[in-house]
Amino acid sequence: MELTADLKAALIRQVAEAVISHADELTALDQAIGDGDHGVNLKRGFEAVLAQLNTLAEKDPGEILKAVGTALVMKVGGASGPLYGTLFMTMGKHLPPKFSLSDLAQAFTAGVEAVKVRGKSDVGQKTMLDVLVPVARTLQESNDDLLSKLKTVAESSAHATIPMKAVRGRASFLGERSVGHMDPGARSSSLMVLAVVETLENHR
Ligand code: ADP
Ligand code: MG
Repeated sequence: MELTADLKAALIRQVAEAVISHADELTALDQAIGDGDHGVNLKRGFEAVLAQLNTLAEKDPGEILKAVGTALVMKVGGASGPLYGTLFMTMGKHLPPKFSLSDLAQAFTAGVEAVKVRGKSDVGQKTMLDVLVPVARTLQESNDDLLSKLKTVAESSAHATIPMKAVRGRASFLGERSVGHMDPGARSSSLMVLAVVETLENHR
């Protein structure tokens, strides 16, 4: 797969705008089980990404991911800034300039594994990993229906965090009271995956 500058710009813009346009929803989710800053945090980070859109789109995909990760680390803060920064930077390190679907799956999986290490966390703990891990698995098991499967998996796995009890991050302070709310980081992860898939569908 080789991406044109137009498609790279569209991917960056759609991911950033998806997060920014859902900032209020992400904040509301974080108000329920955290400190209410997830939407504002990510909005600040992705606005910094959008400000570099034209220079970013000229770079190789791996370099774009590293630059996005760096911007998120610098601007987002909280728990999610370093974790999303780790995801994007690690993925960027592993993605060659021209890549196959299997390269993409491997790079994304490396990013997700790095999030686990950084967060001392894993699936089932009501975090972004509850979306990122199933998405990585779907990428690895790629087949004809990949794009629509990715959308279904991203949405259903974000919803599947509702009945979970948080054991990592701020929401874990609530214990049982975290049950019944969608995890904000799981939702933001699903929004990013949906934005990538929808951009690719529109470019087919
Ligand atoms: P903070 O919790 O510091 O206010 P944010 O509100 O920006 O940071 O992000 C909260 C989200 O970060 C959570 O909803 C969860 O998905 C994710 N998160 C928090 N801690 C961890 C962790 N240890 N591992 C994975 N994800 C985590
Ligand atoms: Mg928060």
